[in-house]
Amino acid sequence: MLRNETRFIREAKYYEKLDKQLVRCLLCPWKCLLDNTQTGLCNVRKNIDGKLYTLIYGLVSSVAIDPIEKKPLFHFYPGAPIFSISSVGCNFKCPWCQNWEISQVSPEKFPGEYMSPEDVVKTMKNYKVPFLAFTYNEPIIWYEYMYDTARLTSREGFKNVIVSNGHINIEPLDELIPYIHAANIDVKAFNPSTYLKIIRGKLEAVLDAIVEMKRKKIHVETTYLVIPGLNDTEDEFRKMTKWHLDNLGPETPLHLSRFYPMYKYSDKPSTPVETLEKLWSIAKEEGLFYVYIGNVPWHKGENTYCPFCGKLLIRRIGYDILEWNLDEENRCKYCGKKIHIIGNRWKKPS
Ligand code: SF4
Repeated sequence: MLRNETRFIREAKYYEKLDKQLVRCLLCPWKCLLDNTQTGLCNVRKNIDGKLYTLIYGLVSSVAIDPIEKKPLFHFYPGAPIFSISSVGCNFKCPWCQNWEISQVSPEKFPGEYMSPEDVVKTMKNYKVPFLAFTYNEPIIWYEYMYDTARLTSREGFKNVIVSNGHINIEPLDELIPYIHAANIDVKAFNPSTYLKIIRGKLEAVLDAIVEMKRKKIHVETTYLVIPGLNDTEDEFRKMTKWHLDNLGPETPLHLSRFYPMYKYSDKPSTPVETLEKLWSIAKEEGLFYVYIGNVPWHKGENTYCPFCGKLLIRRIGYDILEWNLDEENRCKYCGKKIHIIGNRWKKPS
């Protein structure tokens, strides 16, 4: 079915017009050069008669209320529900994408619904959920809609989260940052060649964007999906943790996530739990305070331990918090040291 609705089409914010109806998109580091009628690598930005348009303004592919731990964010309003929305498209081509049905589809063939920024605010108020996540597919390429929506929800006192690959140019990022409160960014490997050849992205640009978010005081957590044979060597992982320590500081949480066979990597093996445990130990050894193991239910790597006295602070199973050993100011109940957590544990509004 071909979509024929103009309400999803808006002029893009970041591009330059060149000769002969050529345009160059300036949103992400690909800087796609597009002839008339051509679409960018992300599938969702198109040159129409010498102007660049987004094809997905308000095009919503999924809506859900998730636990904030699912993003994953473990140090930002723990236990809170978060209204989560997505669109279609991506500026990467990860062969293991778990959301490939929305990330690699053309918007013109996707039967999504229109949801205005005002509709988002109304729905969040109805469900009494003051946190919003742009997630599931890559939100950067939904820029115009994300910007308008995040600006509106911020004005209403809500907090916004992006779950992203971090592949964005600094200028558009800086314009968005005032309306974003937290981010989980994937570092998918620590090898520029893996990024270029397999993921189809630029590692340096991702690292620069993460540093910029941190510098501008967004709460940042990173995720490293460990894929056997792709990014799981000790050498590569140590380089990543050293970079993390030097640029983001020891208090920035790192989530090691277990890979399961998916999409074009359906024939690859899952990550052995021993590999995740080994990398967890390396990250701790390098000096990171908060390192987690995800996608392994019931593993103690889901818990938060005090980096100062070693005691168990937060016990989790999956996305549920079962034990909480922090005071009202997020200090360790045992040694009294301040723990890097933004906001208090979520309490249901009465
Ligand atoms: S956002 Fe899309 S069109 Fe723009 S440079 Fe990136 S991949 Fe190309």
